[in-house]
Amino acid sequence: MAYTVLARRYRPMTFDEVVGQEPIARTLKSALSQNRVAHAYLFCGTRGVGKTTMARILARALNCEKGPTPDPCGKCDICQAIHRGDDIDVLEIDGASNTSVEDVRVLRDNAHYRPARARYKIYYIDEVHMLSRSAFNALLKTLEEPPEHVIFLFSTTEPERLPATILSRCQRFDFRAVATERIAEHLVSICKQEKVKAEPAAVTAIARQGRGSVRDALTLLDQVIAVGDGKVTLEAVRETVGAVGGDKVLAVIAACAEGQAGRALGLFGELLAGGVDLQALLDQFMRHVRDLLVVKTCGTEAEVLDAFGPDPKAMAEVVGKLSVPALVAALGYLTEARSRLRGVVDGRPIAELALVRTALLAEMEPLSDVLAHLEQLERSLAGSSGPGRAPPPSVAGRGGAVAAAAPARVAAPPPDEKKKNVAPAAPVRPAPTRAVPEAVAEPESEPQQAPEPEPVAESPQASSPPRKQRDPSEVLKDPLIQKTVKMFGGRVVSADE
Ligand SMILES: [Zn+2]
Repeated sequence: MAYTVLARRYRPMTFDEVVGQEPIARTLKSALSQNRVAHAYLFCGTRGVGKTTMARILARALNCEKGPTPDPCGKCDICQAIHRGDDIDVLEIDGASNTSVEDVRVLRDNAHYRPARARYKIYYIDEVHMLSRSAFNALLKTLEEPPEHVIFLFSTTEPERLPATILSRCQRFDFRAVATERIAEHLVSICKQEKVKAEPAAVTAIARQGRGSVRDALTLLDQVIAVGDGKVTLEAVRETVGAVGGDKVLAVIAACAEGQAGRALGLFGELLAGGVDLQALLDQFMRHVRDLLVVKTCGTEAEVLDAFGPDPKAMAEVVGKLSVPALVAALGYLTEARSRLRGVVDGRPIAELALVRTALLAEMEPLSDVLAHLEQLERSLAGSSGPGRAPPPSVAGRGGAVAAAAPARVAAPPPDEKKKNVAPAAPVRPAPTRAVPEAVAEPESEPQQAPEPEPVAESPQASSPPRKQRDPSEVLKDPLIQKTVKMFGGRVVSADE
């Protein structure tokens, strides 16, 4: 006999067997027992969450030889036929392939005929949002005044695409993505019934991979059992979904966290050499960075998503090296890279760019530190202020620009600038110690925003009384000034005593 996939073999027969949609099952059961069944239902939710299953159970409950009942027998001819999806009075229509007005007209004309053997004639239209506008209009007439014996069940993944006139005539149920733990429980019970040995970590991995869909998880379980030679192991799951070890991905992220772009690229190259799919690999990177962000911000691993997550201890270590803004930025770079991969023949450079950008974050000063330095600088300057002093807020204004673009990095000056941190032609004009910002990383900052150095052309011995000057190289010995100069890529122009 041909093998029937698990998802079909274990398709729930009763409301009580439905996995993860208990509130909806309860409501429908109570409507049935109170004999208050509506003539049109709309089931909304993503794929694989049980919409079709629920529709078939409801159809059985309505048409079972022992019904209408909240607990269909599942044994009579009608129950069996509906379960198989070939009952004469329950018509399953795929909205995606029967979109025309003609299709709906045929349906509408047929609706007037009484059911062949059961109580109700039930129309189940899957992906109902795919119907054309004229098809909806044709349907609307029947929906407004349906014959007594007709019940409509609609399901859709995109309820927002349905006309309001249809929505307002249906009782709507929103199916939720099923919780990972709930899917895992279901998988364990199926493995027991199938007499298949399953590692708990592997079951959790499959449940997470299902991302809320029981059907997807069961399809994966089928594949894993085949790959693992009748056993469900983490290794088999990894092999089936083409994932690499979480610790290997973490090693790349750790190298980035330490600012070692070269090492990160090397490790990344090794992963690719192993033959993994670049898109799947980037997805895994995104999940790992997202998980690190969760660990960093919530301090818990409860919500960690990735099925092949690395050792929690190793994660904690890497998390310690990355700030929240850095993780957010890294996730942004990876997401951007992932979206740009579509339609690109060789996406490797795009992925590598994201890694290098992440590694550069290691040099980033946290914004709070930058502001603290500025405040400190301002305070230390407050004491030595004199007339005509260029106000430090011109520098702080830059800080504002940095703040707006957080997380940002204030660039080091170009190499030649570094060498002449102390301007040889320091003007003699009296001015307090100040750093002249010259280069800021943000490419969008316009050069004219840079505070202009005060005009130095006029004679230093002009109106203001001469003041004692300090040797700029002396001033640079102050670690605070050093840091400021480095931060803004500036140089010390002059320094007052
Ligand atoms: Zn029955």
